[in-house]
Amino acid sequence: MQNLTADTLPLTGLLPLFLLALLIYGVAEFIYAHFRLGSAKTGEYSMSLKGLGFTALVGALAELLIGPVSKLLLAIWGARLSPFEAGLGPAAWIYGFFIYEMCYWLQHWLAHKVRLLWCLHSPHHAPRSINMFVGFNHSFLEILFYMPLTLGFIPALLGVHPAIIAVMTFIDIVWGNTLHISDKVVTRRWGFLEHFMQTPSYHRVHHARNIRYMDTNYNSITLLGDWLMGTLQPLDDREPVQFGITRKVNTASFWDVHFGEFKLLWQDLRHARRPREYFGYLFRPPGWTPQGEQQTAAARKFRALTENPHDPVQGS
Ligand SMILES: [Zn+2]
Ligand SMILES: [Zn+2]
Repeated sequence: MQNLTADTLPLTGLLPLFLLALLIYGVAEFIYAHFRLGSAKTGEYSMSLKGLGFTALVGALAELLIGPVSKLLLAIWGARLSPFEAGLGPAAWIYGFFIYEMCYWLQHWLAHKVRLLWCLHSPHHAPRSINMFVGFNHSFLEILFYMPLTLGFIPALLGVHPAIIAVMTFIDIVWGNTLHISDKVVTRRWGFLEHFMQTPSYHRVHHARNIRYMDTNYNSITLLGDWLMGTLQPLDDREPVQFGITRKVNTASFWDVHFGEFKLLWQDLRHARRPREYFGYLFRPPGWTPQGEQQTAAARKFRALTENPHDPVQGS
C-alpha cells in the first residue's frame, strides 16, 4: 500500500487534464451544434453546467467540513478492512477488471431499479438531447458519495488493489464521458469496437425513453456486465432514440432536473399508510405503487413487447 501514491499519482494528476480536454471538446461541440446545425438545446447546456458547478461547490464544502471524499480514498479505506488483497500481478488485474465492471453494472442497475437511487441518478438521464455536457451532469450525491462507495470502497473490500481501482476509474471517467459525444456531430458507429466496448451508440440507447431501450447497457467501459446479465441492447436503426425520461420535466431547470424526483417521492411518501408502502416507494422500482408494478419500466416493456414482438416500440 505504501507505493500507492507513486503508483497512481501520475494518473490522478493526468485526470484533470483529460477532463479539461473533454470540456473544451464539449464547448466546440456546442458551438458547432448551435451555429452550424442550429440544433443545440441551450437551456439543457446551461442546466448541465449548473449541475457540474453545484457538484464542485458541494465537493469543496464537503472537503472543508469532513475532508476530501473520493473513490481512491474510500478504496484505501476498503482495502484496510478487506480480509485479503489480490495484489498487483497479472491475475489480480484480470480479477480487478472483472470486479470493477460487475460493481459498475450492479450500482448502475440499482440506480435504475431502486426509486431512492433513481432520484440520485435521474438528473443524468433527464436531458432530451445528448452531448458532452450531459456526461458531466450528475447529482452531487451520486458523484460525491454513491459512486465512491460502490466503485471505490466495495471493490477494495473484495480485494482489488486501490491502484487497479484508480486505473479503472481513470478509464471509466475518460471513456464514460466520451460516450456522450453528440449524436448530431458524430453519427457513425465505431467499427470493431462495437463488438466488445461500450460506444456512443450503446450509450445513446441507455439514455433513451423508448420502451424497448429502457434499462439496458449499464456498463461504461466494456460490454461484459451487460452481456453476462442479459441487459445488452444494440441500437436498432428502425427505432431512433428518443432521449430523456418518461416524467414531464423542464429540462432547462436545474431544480426540476436535480430535485424533481425527490419532490415526487416525498409526495408519495406523505400518502403512504403502512410500512410496506413506505418501503415500497423508497426501494421498489420507479413506477411502483401499492396497487402493483404495472407502471414500472419492466412491466411496460413486457406488455409492449408481448403485444408487438417485432415492431419498434416508441416511448411515451
Ligand atoms: Zn443510467
Ligand atoms: Zn450517460
